[in-house]
Amino acid sequence: MAPSNLLSGVFRRIAALGAAARAMRSGRPSASKAYLTGGVLRLGEPRSADCVHYPTAGAVSANVRPARRSLGWQCVWVILGIMPVLGSARASNPTLKTKNVFLIVTDGFRWQEVFSGAEETLMDKTNGGVKNVQALRKRFWRETPEARRQALWPFFWGEIAQRGQLYGNQIKSSVARVTNDKRFSYPGYNEMLTGLPDPRIESNKKVPNPNVTVFEWLQGRPGMSKRVAALATWDVFPFIFNCGRSGMPIWPSWEAKPLGIVPSQTLSQLMRNTTPVWEDLIFDALLQQAALDYIPTKKPRVLFLGYGETDEWAHAGRYDLYLEAARHVDRFVQSLWELTQSISQYRGKTTFIITTDHGRGHGLSGWEDHGEKVEGAEGIWIAVLGPDTPALGERNHTEPVGQNQIAATLAALLGEDFRASFPEAGLPIADAVKPQPAR
Ligand SMILES: [Zn+2]
Repeated sequence: MAPSNLLSGVFRRIAALGAAARAMRSGRPSASKAYLTGGVLRLGEPRSADCVHYPTAGAVSANVRPARRSLGWQCVWVILGIMPVLGSARASNPTLKTKNVFLIVTDGFRWQEVFSGAEETLMDKTNGGVKNVQALRKRFWRETPEARRQALWPFFWGEIAQRGQLYGNQIKSSVARVTNDKRFSYPGYNEMLTGLPDPRIESNKKVPNPNVTVFEWLQGRPGMSKRVAALATWDVFPFIFNCGRSGMPIWPSWEAKPLGIVPSQTLSQLMRNTTPVWEDLIFDALLQQAALDYIPTKKPRVLFLGYGETDEWAHAGRYDLYLEAARHVDRFVQSLWELTQSISQYRGKTTFIITTDHGRGHGLSGWEDHGEKVEGAEGIWIAVLGPDTPALGERNHTEPVGQNQIAATLAALLGEDFRASFPEAGLPIADAVKPQPAR
């Protein structure tokens, strides 16, 4: 199908679903009226003061469940968290080679496809909304799970499975899971970035995160000032990272005046010329271009990259585009990896952690959805590739690993102890952070 027909079909389908239905299924809020002018975001035009007018701390509490901790304690935790850890061994473990970490997330992509590739019963019109079954099968169907996953994610199964580690293949008794009970995006990102679930975060509303992320915390560590950033497709990320408090540069900032990261003129032009499909999300390809522009010039040491299309196409019931978006993510990761290996600051000194914020259901329709009531949506996967991660490949018969371990793992790879400031955070994934002999 020609791309133009494809897009118009997509539009019709998405319009039919309706914002409210999507919100219910994804756990995302209906687009706030203040943000909408006729249904879709006009990229590049002023949208809202997302990163500028933050509610006060009191207003934050009013929007969330009664806090587990009082506001006073919350402030103490925040202040303690941001302060350098006095007396803690700095960290720097001279035997670790990692000096940079990229945390790369593709939203709502299932462990089932990561480890077994395309699912045959979904590669049709009825269950998977597939437009061209024959073409899709040619592209992604193979007789064995090993061949299917290789067809879908060749870089993962060529490079990461050979030189890194992959957790989450439940068929082989390797379980990776979220420990929050919500199983949708903001609670998941909060857990992965702060090291523990927070029951106050119970929606995807644009509420500044009351918790300190490992990114915000690392900004205060030696050598990290202005070397921490986020590039992400979804318009809630400025809130998840609490840009108003953390001052973390993020793109896009979803407003006329970007906070910290200014895209190239070419990219800005491309965004203006692209017909938006979702009101709250930009295409992954645009984000990828921003990353390829940003990394060589600003050389961040800790970078978050958040792709979003995998979740959106699943909610739209389009298994073909869900797979296609995932295929792109593998290519994105590969080109980021190759880019880092071509720059001296990064070469041999960079670790990628690649994961997802939640799983999805299973069965003929369950794959489209996730959330508190969706069985199996707690299952995720976590991949680690870098100089301090032993090449154990696809893990099997491991102790379960949790999304709450990602923050401390990220910090540990940089020789930092996140749990010295946040003792409730999950432990680093032990097997993923071990100094390696020179190779
Ligand atoms: Zn979703």
